[in-house]
Amino acid sequence: MSNVNAMTVDVEEYFQVEAFAKDIPISEWTGYESRLGLQMDKLLQTFADNNVKATFFTLGWIAQNHPDILKRIIAEGHEIASHGFMHQHLSKQNADVFFEDITKAKALIEDITGVEVKGYRAPCFSISADNDWAHDLIAKAGYQYSSSSYPINHDLYGVPNAPKDAYRLSNGLLEIPVTTAKFGNKIYPAGGGGYFRLLPFWLFNYLFNKGQTDRIANFYTHPWEFDPEQPKIESNFKSRFRHHVNQKTALQKLTKLCAKYEWTSMDKAYLSKEHPVLGDWQQVANGQFLTTAV
Ligand SMILES: [Zn+2]
Repeated sequence: MSNVNAMTVDVEEYFQVEAFAKDIPISEWTGYESRLGLQMDKLLQTFADNNVKATFFTLGWIAQNHPDILKRIIAEGHEIASHGFMHQHLSKQNADVFFEDITKAKALIEDITGVEVKGYRAPCFSISADNDWAHDLIAKAGYQYSSSSYPINHDLYGVPNAPKDAYRLSNGLLEIPVTTAKFGNKIYPAGGGGYFRLLPFWLFNYLFNKGQTDRIANFYTHPWEFDPEQPKIESNFKSRFRHHVNQKTALQKLTKLCAKYEWTSMDKAYLSKEHPVLGDWQQVANGQFLTTAV
């Protein structure tokens, strides 16, 4: 029997993504046309039509500029969570800046929605294997879970040796990795993002179906992935391709995925379940955890 899986959305504008971070300084963000409202219309309608509840990891910057969108997420029965305030890759932040960023985002989102924020997702899954302060600070800021790791090899993110199933760190924080699929000795990304748009639906579904067998899967996407009309950013070919590939067909594919599996928010899918305690972040990120405990 398959599980009820977790649907997640990282709520940010197309001009705030990591692929374009080198092209667009923060000071220029306000010069770009906002597309989030109409992108959220499409996503929320698709979720409503398919009886899907989701978790929206939302930037503090978005909360500040579009409080109405946060209220709509709550009014439609979804979970609101935090994607930090300013969407800066962790390699560009020190511990003090990071703690302020995630604390400020949590407080503002709670202020606007009146709902406790339990979950955090790092921008671009950018907590690296040698990063020993982030998870302790996430717990200290009052979050109950983090979904900040993608246990694959990738140029922008990835902790390939980290566990593939949800686990508790020794500080008590629950870490929920994005879903992968194992074939033989190889681990493949199966949790969404660019791969979801790049691959034909049957192939992505093959990976996802394998990934969600015997585990609760964690799928992620972004509002800008469903907006082929968004302004094009001047950047290198790789960044443009990664951002725009197959945006025209993405909503159709998402609708199929919504209909094919059962979906709920992260808090409902994971928080009340038992999860093994595997050690501190450096241990698990380097694969030095007790696999017998999984
Ligand atoms: Zn993001």
